[in-house]
Amino acid sequence: MSFANILGHSRNIARLKALAASGRVPPALLFAGVEGTGKFLVAKEFAKALNCLHKPAEEPAAEENLFAAPSKPAPHPSSLIPSARGGPAGLFGGHPSDDACDKCVSCLQIESGAHPDVRIIDAAFQGFLLDEDARKQKTLKIDTVREFTRYVYRKNLFSPWKVFIINDAHTLNLNAQNAMLKLLEEPPPNNIFILIAAKKNSLLPTIISRSYALDFKELGAAEVEELLERAGLPLDEASRLSELSGGSVKKAGDIKRVRDRLASVAVSGPAGIFKLVSSLPKEPYLAREEAKIMLDMLILSARKKWLTEGRGQNAPRFAALIKKLLGLRKFLNQNVSHGLVLEAALLESENLSVSLR
Ligand SMILES: [Zn+2]
Repeated sequence: MSFANILGHSRNIARLKALAASGRVPPALLFAGVEGTGKFLVAKEFAKALNCLHKPAEEPAAEENLFAAPSKPAPHPSSLIPSARGGPAGLFGGHPSDDACDKCVSCLQIESGAHPDVRIIDAAFQGFLLDEDARKQKTLKIDTVREFTRYVYRKNLFSPWKVFIINDAHTLNLNAQNAMLKLLEEPPPNNIFILIAAKKNSLLPTIISRSYALDFKELGAAEVEELLERAGLPLDEASRLSELSGGSVKKAGDIKRVRDRLASVAVSGPAGIFKLVSSLPKEPYLAREEAKIMLDMLILSARKKWLTEGRGQNAPRFAALIKKLLGLRKFLNQNVSHGLVLEAALLESENLSVSLR
């Protein structure tokens, strides 16, 4: 895969390609936007483009060509943020690429997660460090930041840039963010930190202000549909899921997983609803996540019905249901029984024939 195979985000990709080609890259980048739109894939492609061993053909150096237009990175509000000191040219030689070749050792190693200079910091990394289930890692902790900081101060092993992709950076707790901030205040040369955050506001303003921020918008339904088809789903299922996805491939995948599981469970009537709630996973954190997905499914389904059927006299009833469901959805982030919340949501929805099917 290279940038060319990523659907959507063309403006952000153009900016990243310009940065990669210039060889002057800000030490911290922030990719913000809802989950499941491809931010991680874009970050990985950027790391590949920066470290790709396949260099474009040599061109005359700018100072030798007095008539050449000066090459500039793409204009961006964060352009006052200083670029990483040094840069790869001269260290490892050659002109920087603006995209990955996908064939060289560096590209292949990054793709497989085995590149020694490109590290992914996420729940799985922390779970491995703590010898705990990755799914239980709700926040990224200071020890995790300290652990990868050891690599920040080591020499590059193989490539011009060391790249640290911090996935779900919005889950960094306050201590971890302060440790991260120290790194960003005096970043060692040739290190790049890409913070991927679904909730930008969970980050300290001082981290945001030191980062070159790119906002990632939701994908279009057609783009989600194409990505689901590429993943092997039949066209009709891809089409149905994309309509409910809200522009997020992750959400489409979550909905598919829950729908598949519910295929054999009755979901109507008080008895069916009780049975469904009892069928949630035994582990509380998994049950809560699944209840959230089901609430999202009900909200999306209610919105769809409101758009198609609710224009008439039922409009206020659909609007009231959506408002109620959004209120119940908030409870799932608090210490309230997820079973009771889900039960209430399903009963309210059933009155207007809004269901999980
Ligand atoms: Zn390559």
